[in-house]
Amino acid sequence: MHYVVLGAGPAGVVAAETLRTADRAGTITLVGGEPEPPYSRMAIPYFLTGKIPAEGTHLRKAPGYYDTLGIGFRQGTAEGLDTDAKRIAFADGSHLHYDRLLIATGARPVRPPIAGLERKAVHHCWTLEDARNIVTLAEPGSHVVLMGAGFIGCIVLEALAMRGVNLTVVEMGDRMVPRMMNPTAGTMIRKWCETKGVRVLTSTRIKSLQSVAAEKSRGIFGFLRRKEAPRDSDTIDVELDTGEMLAAHLVVVCAGVKPNTDFLEGSGIRTDGGILVDRYMRTSANDVYAAGDVARGYDFSTKGHDVHAIQPTASEHGRIAALNMAGHNVQYNGSLQMNVLDTLGLISSSFGLWDGVEGGEAVEVVDHDAYRYLCLQFKDDVLVGGTAIGMTQHIGCLRGLIQAGTRLGPWKERLRRDPMRIMDAYVAHSQMA
Ligand SMILES: Cc1cc2nc3c(=O)[nH]c(=O)nc-3n(C[C@H](O)[C@H](O)[C@H](O)COP(=O)(O)OP(=O)(O)OC[C@H]3O[C@@H](n4cnc5c(N)ncnc54)[C@H](O)[C@@H]3O)c2cc1C
Repeated sequence: MHYVVLGAGPAGVVAAETLRTADRAGTITLVGGEPEPPYSRMAIPYFLTGKIPAEGTHLRKAPGYYDTLGIGFRQGTAEGLDTDAKRIAFADGSHLHYDRLLIATGARPVRPPIAGLERKAVHHCWTLEDARNIVTLAEPGSHVVLMGAGFIGCIVLEALAMRGVNLTVVEMGDRMVPRMMNPTAGTMIRKWCETKGVRVLTSTRIKSLQSVAAEKSRGIFGFLRRKEAPRDSDTIDVELDTGEMLAAHLVVVCAGVKPNTDFLEGSGIRTDGGILVDRYMRTSANDVYAAGDVARGYDFSTKGHDVHAIQPTASEHGRIAALNMAGHNVQYNGSLQMNVLDTLGLISSSFGLWDGVEGGEAVEVVDHDAYRYLCLQFKDDVLVGGTAIGMTQHIGCLRGLIQAGTRLGPWKERLRRDPMRIMDAYVAHSQMA
């Protein structure tokens, strides 16, 4: 039996390891699409801040680790998949046959259609290579513009600020982390960042990125530029839709991601904003499974399928997929929308249906001065979603009650009167369980 695991991120690596445990004799090939050993994108911010070297991002650090497990590791970018012939075609012209295949190719950053995005000092923050480029340019005192304040953007924001750069964040939504935080919470995070010296522009779009040379030849932007902006030949002029021009040594683009599914065109594998999988992580093609950021896994809070682009979900997808590939019959319990952010020391989190449900009820407590916020979303007497800022002690309880789908009974009314009793509610129900 030849198992091929396409993609060497957390989903792929956990899958390869699980396959080895479940099938001692099978041949396992793990394929990575980048010229690096398998690594964790989640560790990139620690590399950016200098806490770890590039090797610190590697998912497994022991020398010869994959060889010892009998896992063959190779690099290659898949360009096509023939599910009848069970053959993967790679960009270098080579092919690989599989008996069972796991697609764990993750996602890649979206490139918004903005003129000048190809400039040298413009980078995404997705790969280790991106991170190395950012480290070179994000020196203390340099001017950096960060496009996008979503989940990844906010993680990168923290790392850039810790590098001592002059940071301006440009977010087209009306608040920070709009897909994770409601207006009260997103605005609170913005104000917090501003107190820490980061300039945050919401409801603002970047129109174009121009080099100084281009600007000189046109000679029209000088009067709009911020006075403190640096000027040298490497500077990029960032044109905003407000008319303002920002000069930057580096522009980091965090404008969302999309799943790496292009190579599946013509393969017959069904996709819809991600590969469609069943509860066993099977795709629509025989002997082909999918896991991680590329897959729309089961979401137990909505009972539908969605991409939950976080590492714990990717690893669990990989584990379940591998067990099924090796002949076990294991259903994936499902994941929950779950995001926890540390933004310059302010911890925010949202879980499940944090934005509420039709016919549901919400309660909230907010202390703007102390940067504390708690919002609970109910459907009948079940807590279906929640948002917390500045209250780390409540995060586990919030998640626990949502994840368990606990019927709160009389505790619903108590929480409606005082949402801060979330921990008491959790303890009361843990004792009943
Ligand atoms: C800066 C940053 C910070 C993050 N912080 C957090 C965090 O704090 N917490 C959290 O839970 N998540 C975080 N994430 C998200 C997390 O990294 C992803 O959810 C996780 O990496 C998904 O794992 P994956 O294995 O599905 O995909 P990936 O890690 O993206 O791995 C995909 C693999 O597939 C390969 N590949 C892609 N296309 C092809 C192809 N055509 N052929 C062959 N190989 C291919 C890639 O090279 C790679 O090896 C962060 C991400 C970034 C970028």
